[in-house]
Amino acid sequence: MNYPTPATFTRATSALMFEEAKQYFPGGVHSPVRAFRSVQGPPVFFEEGSGSHIRDVDGQAYIDFCCSWGPLILGHCPPAVLERVQQTIVKGMSFGTPTPHDLLIGKLMLENHRYIEMVRFVSSGTEAVMSALRLARGVTGKSKVIKFEGCYHGHVDALLVKAGSGLVTFGISTSAGIPEAFAKETIVVPLADAEALELALKQHAGDVACVIVEPIPANNGLLLQDRAYLQKMRDLCTEHGVLLIFDEVISGFRVGFEGAAGLYDIQPDIITFGKIIGGGMPVGAYAASRTIMEHIAPMGPVYQAGTLSANPVAMAAGYATLLELLKPGFYEGLEQKTAWFTATLEKYCQEKGYALRFPHVGSIFWPTFSESRIQRADEIDGKGMDLFKIMHLECLKRGVYFGPSGYEVGFISSAHTQEDLDYAIAMIKESIDVVFS
Ligand SMILES: *Cc1c(COP(=O)(O)O)cnc(C)c1O
Repeated sequence: MNYPTPATFTRATSALMFEEAKQYFPGGVHSPVRAFRSVQGPPVFFEEGSGSHIRDVDGQAYIDFCCSWGPLILGHCPPAVLERVQQTIVKGMSFGTPTPHDLLIGKLMLENHRYIEMVRFVSSGTEAVMSALRLARGVTGKSKVIKFEGCYHGHVDALLVKAGSGLVTFGISTSAGIPEAFAKETIVVPLADAEALELALKQHAGDVACVIVEPIPANNGLLLQDRAYLQKMRDLCTEHGVLLIFDEVISGFRVGFEGAAGLYDIQPDIITFGKIIGGGMPVGAYAASRTIMEHIAPMGPVYQAGTLSANPVAMAAGYATLLELLKPGFYEGLEQKTAWFTATLEKYCQEKGYALRFPHVGSIFWPTFSESRIQRADEIDGKGMDLFKIMHLECLKRGVYFGPSGYEVGFISSAHTQEDLDYAIAMIKESIDVVFS
């Protein structure tokens, strides 16, 4: 593998491309974190991926722990997925009609997931969440939504809202362009605090359509919650006649085929999917009981549509991916690999006295510059982000690619071999020695 070293590492071609890209695209990118604003140097442009490796436009190889932000649980270009996509694509890329692929993936998904009975496919995680909110509002006839500080649900207007300082407060919009009237429909409460949730439900009794949560919050660090808290959330929703939405765009099919619902054995009312379900293609989905899903058009009054929804090529990629995930031992193997990888790094940090830990669940992990368990967004120390910046650059120079922000989690795919992980561990150790030197 043509891994860079600190002496040979270059971003010459990437830097040139980025300069040009900035003329065409806002910030040079199509999704903000890609611009590398929270780490050092210009973004690296990649042009090839195979298994756990990616190659940049300067010809250097990296072990990829970003995995396209989560979708690539099988790594890059897994043969089974590639083959099915190739067979499908030559038969037509879109019809805007039902196709046999709908049935293949739908049946497979529902037969192997005990928490859902019907599903609607869309084209992104954001679209899935947006539609799920509309469905919850349509079913309940209520308008307010409760979300948690530190949970990301895509760029849905009403959810781009973060908490104010109070315990329970009206949202202050985080993004420009969101009318106050929309933000007012969103109530933000802290994670890991059942009392705050109960208070919010009581204060807004009769107005709340749903509570939406990332049951495994993994977009603002990895803020692992206790099962008891999630169960309490379920109970409170039932008690108040409010729908519980598990946003499993990142955790779905990641911590097990049944995602967080299965991991914690908690029955939400609606589940949203994205990322892995598309096997690298743009796919989202939302699913629920038959009773709830029957509110969707054309069966019911909640409108939701899509020109490219359930696109056959994307469905083929998703179906081929899900088939792999259902093979015996798939998740156990991935979990063991991740547990070993994170434990090895943590042991090193403990021996050296470095305040860096690697909490994980399933094959998601988070390098966090803290020795304590972090469950809420406001417990994350911003100083750790400066250390992450150094670590990111040092890893990059040694052929280890992490998502370009300390708030992002890392992923291990089934394509990461022991050899890859051994190499990555050696390089990460060198990098964190630099961080703490
Ligand atoms: C990634 C993500 C989204 C948004 O999905 P997109 O496909 O990027 O629109 C929503 N919710 C969660 C939990 C996610 O991780």
